[in-house]
Amino acid sequence: MSELLDRARAAMPGGVSSPVRAFGAVEGDPPFVQRAQGATITDTQGRSYVDLVCSWGPLILGHAHPAVVDAVTRAVRAGLSFGATCPAEVELAEALLARYPFADKVRFVNSGTEAVMSAIRLARGATGRSRVVKFEGCYHGHHDSMLVKAGSGLATFGAPSSAGVPEEYTRLTDVLPLDDLEQLAALFADRGDQIACVVIEPLPANAGLLIQTDEFLRGVRELCTKHGALLLFDEVISGLRVAPGGMVARSGVTPDIVTLGKVVGGGMPVGAYVAPDAIMDHVAPLGAVYQAGTLSGNPVAMAAGLATLRELEKKGTYERLDELGARLQRGWLEALERRGVAGSVARVGSILWLCLQAGPTPRTFGCIRPEGARLYGRLHRRALDQGLWMAPSAYEVAFVSTAHAEEHVDRAVEALDRALAGLPAEAAK
Ligand SMILES: *Cc1c(COP(=O)(O)O)cnc(C)c1O
Repeated sequence: MSELLDRARAAMPGGVSSPVRAFGAVEGDPPFVQRAQGATITDTQGRSYVDLVCSWGPLILGHAHPAVVDAVTRAVRAGLSFGATCPAEVELAEALLARYPFADKVRFVNSGTEAVMSAIRLARGATGRSRVVKFEGCYHGHHDSMLVKAGSGLATFGAPSSAGVPEEYTRLTDVLPLDDLEQLAALFADRGDQIACVVIEPLPANAGLLIQTDEFLRGVRELCTKHGALLLFDEVISGLRVAPGGMVARSGVTPDIVTLGKVVGGGMPVGAYVAPDAIMDHVAPLGAVYQAGTLSGNPVAMAAGLATLRELEKKGTYERLDELGARLQRGWLEALERRGVAGSVARVGSILWLCLQAGPTPRTFGCIRPEGARLYGRLHRRALDQGLWMAPSAYEVAFVSTAHAEEHVDRAVEALDRALAGLPAEAAK
């Protein structure tokens, strides 16, 4: 173990600031990152890797994109934080509203967690109702009302999925399986008049990539409308990435509130929620739903987000991301086939999931089998040794960015191919 890892573990729980970085579900110790540029990341040993984590989603332009670095540098010279509204904030708000035309206003916060937490408070404030519904396998950040898993037995009332979350809180959250309109309809029939909102990742990308049908999303929309509940699309991963207007544009289903994060900050800490005036008018200072932030709308973070969106506006960007994603998907599928390892590769645009189990790629959390995760745990270190930086968890997706060239994608394919070949034969069965 390196001296730095010793010091990290002595100074921070697990040596990290976010749990998955500790490599608990894969073999070996986590490398420390020295720097990153474009599609590659370099560790403190001087080894470089093709990066498919992209800071867990924000870096749709790759690392240290010159336009973003320039914008941030200019912003920094003008002051790090004002505690007052700045022009870049207004411009970024307008840029988001242009992409989400159903919405009239934006509120900026500092993370995806904060965006969803605030949006749920807003939904409760706007409807005067208390209950929220979420789906198993969707992640919405680490605030109390969403750290909830399905309860036991037939009850849909949630149970805490983390110590420190009072059961009393989670009783207000119902947890249902994805891809099952009947269960949602039954829940609405039972207590529809108490439900403030249904929260969903329209493209669930935090437990693999559980691609939902448009029919399911439409059905959720109809049930919400019928029972007077708001529909919250958590697009912290999918927003601005799978299309300029995210899954709202791709599915044609219009929610009442959208939460954004990751790409919207271009690598800086930014979250946001957007909604029509009828809902946003409830947010303080216009309305009675309180929500605030010392560093919200930070000028440096706004500059990074704005520069990122300006780059994404260039012609052919999303087509390019899609092409690169398709190339990686094809290459990985061929590698699985060549090495005789059962699996599939789910993909929407530049988001991919390597799913190491036989049969069709799952659509629900319950269909993900644990053997695949165990195999991934062994594969991960071998891929790292081949120069491929993948997420240290089988349940996390991979991202390509505009900084990835065909050459990087092909290296990612060769690295996975060699890593698969190096697996012990009994493991790959
Ligand atoms: C990452 C993520 C969050 C949490 O965002 P943080 O910035 O990590 O707090 C919430 N929802 C979804 C869908 C996410 O992918």
